[in-house]
Amino acid sequence: MIARHILLTRLLAKLRFRLLSPLHIGLGERGFLIQNTLLVEKYVIPASSLKGSLRRIAEWLMKSKLESYTDELVKKAVQLHREERGPIEHTPPPSENANKTIDEIYNKLKDSRKELFDFLWKQFREDKRKIVDVGLGVLCPVCSIFGCPSFAGKMRLTGAKIANDSYTLRFIWGVGINRETRTAERNVLFAHQVIDPGVTLCCEIIVDNLIPGDPDAQLFADLLKYLHEEGFQVGARKSVGLGCLDLDVENSEFAFADLRNKRDLESLKALFTQPYTKYPIKFEQLIEKLLGK
Ligand SMILES: [Zn+2]
Repeated sequence: MIARHILLTRLLAKLRFRLLSPLHIGLGERGFLIQNTLLVEKYVIPASSLKGSLRRIAEWLMKSKLESYTDELVKKAVQLHREERGPIEHTPPPSENANKTIDEIYNKLKDSRKELFDFLWKQFREDKRKIVDVGLGVLCPVCSIFGCPSFAGKMRLTGAKIANDSYTLRFIWGVGINRETRTAERNVLFAHQVIDPGVTLCCEIIVDNLIPGDPDAQLFADLLKYLHEEGFQVGARKSVGLGCLDLDVENSEFAFADLRNKRDLESLKALFTQPYTKYPIKFEQLIEKLLGK
């Protein structure tokens, strides 16, 4: 809904992840890997699962840095971003002061983000709550990257594929435990099909219009750093340690094209035909650039 039709920058990455513990992306109870057909193409983590995991980490990183946001409206967006029940919102939960807070944010949007406000006003007219919700959504670093119900995010990604020629599939067996008696429950022997660690998973991402130094660009840098330094988990049975991955930056490839002052045909052609040779960037440089240093 919010138009982002001019390409200002483009970040591309061929990410490689090391699988550190068995991975199960399954159909829950039946325990088999999600659709065996996916394995023919070696796609083992659907884009939606990967995106969900990355989004949760980004949300946590964003909230943990609340005090560092200097722009008042961005700070409000970070503070109010919530998705406890149902869709993501950026308005205060119903309370005595909720309408007062909405009025304050509405006026601030009107005064300091004129272009955005005018656009929202054309869409929603008198609906102050909606204007505040979507307006803060646009300014919210996580929603800017990952999207929210009113608009698409700046990032697109593929599912993750196994990069190796061979990999091992096996079953992990277990029994369900009755929470009250803390003994094995009858009739709940289960098996989960897993991919053994040691393989490399790869996926590709594209993020458009991250402006170095902006809050969403900084958050994206924090996210990449976190994936490299701390790793993350995807798939089922995370509580027992399945699906641990870390980002292997030495074997990943990154490209960043800044087209703000370079809008000639050659530059665009290079971006679409040979992005990684024409706009290569090392991981550490990319992080610095996104952070605006
Ligand atoms: Zn948000």
